[in-house]
Amino acid sequence: MHDQVPQQGLVLVAHPPRGGALTGRIELVLDGTAIATLTLTCCLDCRVASLDYIHVVAGYRRLGYGRTLVAAAHARTTGYRRTAPLPDGPAAQAFRARISYPHPEASCVHQRQ
Ligand SMILES: [Zn+2]
Repeated sequence: MHDQVPQQGLVLVAHPPRGGALTGRIELVLDGTAIATLTLTCCLDCRVASLDYIHVVAGYRRLGYGRTLVAAAHARTTGYRRTAPLPDGPAAQAFRARISYPHPEASCVHQRQ
């Protein structure tokens, strides 16, 4: 699958969940280097999609890459209630504040500790 990724330009790469894992990963790759990463955990039973982690490499922030990843994640979770844990750090929290999550209370009982 990676063999088909062009090495030039901006590419969205989705790594679907494998082997029963519920977590998928989406990356934005610019000229062969991942500049933004998002991981997403979906529960088929609860119909909840949780945005677990999003990271944009310093120097590429506030350019819309994070939003692009979130949009890509949303496009893959149609019909799910979407939620995201409050991230650590002011940059992540500022980003999170700009993203609309209509079901902040949604949670997957299977993921609770
Ligand atoms: Zn669940």
